[in-house]
Amino acid sequence: MKTRGLITHFVYKFKQKRAQIIFIYTNIMARGFIDCHCHLSADEFTQDIDDVLLRAKRAGVKALVAVTEGASEFEKVILLSKTYPGFVFPCFGIHPLQGSGQDLHSVRIQDLEPFLPLFQKYRADIVAVGEIGLDFTPWFARTTQERDEQIKVFIKQLEIAKELDLPVNVHSRSAAKVTIDTMKELGIRQALLHNFAGKPSVAMEGVQAGFCFSFPPAVSKTEQRAKLIRQIPLEHICLETDSPALGIDKHIRNEPGNIMICCEYIAKIKGISSDAVMEVTTQNALRLFSKLKRYNYFSYIVSFC
Ligand SMILES: [Zn+2]
Ligand SMILES: [Zn+2]
Repeated sequence: MKTRGLITHFVYKFKQKRAQIIFIYTNIMARGFIDCHCHLSADEFTQDIDDVLLRAKRAGVKALVAVTEGASEFEKVILLSKTYPGFVFPCFGIHPLQGSGQDLHSVRIQDLEPFLPLFQKYRADIVAVGEIGLDFTPWFARTTQERDEQIKVFIKQLEIAKELDLPVNVHSRSAAKVTIDTMKELGIRQALLHNFAGKPSVAMEGVQAGFCFSFPPAVSKTEQRAKLIRQIPLEHICLETDSPALGIDKHIRNEPGNIMICCEYIAKIKGISSDAVMEVTTQNALRLFSKLKRYNYFSYIVSFC
């Protein structure tokens, strides 16, 4: 919804007593969670984003890092960050898989190149470059050519991140070693590997390079990632929901308000309190996404009833 449209809509609902504004003081140094990887610009949130964010706030989330998969979402995350200043923080990135459903395919250089000027235009607004990365799932990246083109798009965006002095928010599937090696070769120092599922030994190479790792609620359903989470030091772990995907039940939309599930799961594996996980992961997130620290003021949520 465009800003003017949103205001008109609000005035209309307000007159009907079906809208309210909730003012919130955002203290980024206060206690709370940071959802380091979520897709707030996804179509699944178009109808009720205000309520979703209100529930997140009530669940203790104090900041959300909103990634994109394609350039069509760039303006949307910027608008969200202007509507919820100090609460929603935008990233720009072209995901290694493009399209959806039957049309899901490996990224091509033309999915990125025409939009490069937008990274420059909004360089002051974005807090990271992402979601970028490599997805070598065999049925999406069948040929060497497709995988090479993914690497080209990934490298180009890593270079943009370096040029803009921004961290990267990274997806890696069936490509753990190549992803980490590529980032190390390019001298990337600030990176979040979201929903990482590679071998613990490869993850530890990432830890050595200073990278962080985050895990969405879905991982708590099985014990598959327990070994990985146990080995990664807490100082290299952040929290994410990857909303609207990767919730506990894949048939139910995930949302940032579910962040406690990730926190409790990590706490259980590490044998420490949820409070300790919240505190350390939030410090890690503020260190990684350092632009978040600039925000410390009143924001507001418009809620339609
Ligand atoms: Zn991803
Ligand atoms: Zn994602």
